[in-house]
Amino acid sequence: MSTRVERLFADVLKILRDDDRDLQRIADYPDSNIALDDFWGTIGDDAVLQPVDRATDRRLSGDETDMAEDERRAVDGAIRVHGIDALAMYKSYRYLQKRPFPNYWGVFYLESGIARLEQLLLYDLPALQDSRFVAFDFLWRHESYHFRFDVASLAFEGVAQKALYEPQKRAFYRCRDQQPEEALANHNVWEWAKREDLSLSPRRGKLSRSGIANFAYDFMKTQPGAYARFDESITDLRREAAAGLFEGLRFRGAAPQRIDLSPWIGLIPTELRGHGNVPEYLVRNVRLSKLLALAHWFPLVRVISESDDVAKKIATRYQNLRQQWVATKDKLVRATGAAGLNFKQWKPSPGLWSVRVNDNFRAHLRAIDTTKGIWEVVEFGPHTELGHG
Ligand SMILES: [Zn+2]
Repeated sequence: MSTRVERLFADVLKILRDDDRDLQRIADYPDSNIALDDFWGTIGDDAVLQPVDRATDRRLSGDETDMAEDERRAVDGAIRVHGIDALAMYKSYRYLQKRPFPNYWGVFYLESGIARLEQLLLYDLPALQDSRFVAFDFLWRHESYHFRFDVASLAFEGVAQKALYEPQKRAFYRCRDQQPEEALANHNVWEWAKREDLSLSPRRGKLSRSGIANFAYDFMKTQPGAYARFDESITDLRREAAAGLFEGLRFRGAAPQRIDLSPWIGLIPTELRGHGNVPEYLVRNVRLSKLLALAHWFPLVRVISESDDVAKKIATRYQNLRQQWVATKDKLVRATGAAGLNFKQWKPSPGLWSVRVNDNFRAHLRAIDTTKGIWEVVEFGPHTELGHG
């Protein structure tokens, strides 16, 4: 199906000389010490690949996984640690022989990743139609950007007869989440979500996709490093990526270095875009709960109580928020990973977690018993009062 693209890769790759300058190995971003390759690389040979065929199966049904709690917590945790690429990955033709999935390249969707994204979408958007298809499309917008970045880089490599892509990947190995390419890929999702959102474009037709832009925003803002930078200026992000790719200058301040080439970042001919050019697979028989360290799982929330101080506040000063607070608690127990809750570690106070009550109010919680999922709310108020920006 994709021989044209494969031939392009093969023709250019054979004339490239590798650039081993030390410069190429440096990425001056915070070290995340979590290598995504380590995570996907641990997927074993028992994984089953099933080609995704959009032409014959628009709904792209998988098992309606009644996902075990362990798996849900692992997937939700993986999204916070590894970003959206915990759910699906793009593997370049350049790495055809490498793990995971030797002899295959393209976009790989984890079955439990798709199923969980669908659940998360439905938590916040219960009226969403074709939710399974939307989940695939969501991930496609991110992963297909990686394909575009790859092929666009290949064009420059062909002219320069010098490797650019591979040194870039090596340089970011210990801080993969900081690649401006990830911000650009999530930006691609963001632009798609805004177009899909019925509330923003009322002429889109009958599909109820209202709220998907808000979902995408919340979902991507809790992702690590560059993943959360999707709403920054696209021009600046492209410039930052160009400085890294072409000059080996990998830090934010390097953005002005190759402004001349930045418009071509991620730009490929129309005929090379789209599903027919990239093989797509559903990856079955893989459990994230077996691959991801327990320390990274999302916390269990079963019981929530308020401290005396918070209970008093809700009974008096914030009485008007009582119903919203009850609904928030209920959702936090029923749908802990829901994007709309924005439930996240509150970094300024280790041990505290923060949840959104409404656009202006948040609550801070502390786990009393992590294995039983018992929590106490210790702060409740306007987000500015609680120290949020
Ligand atoms: Zn990515």
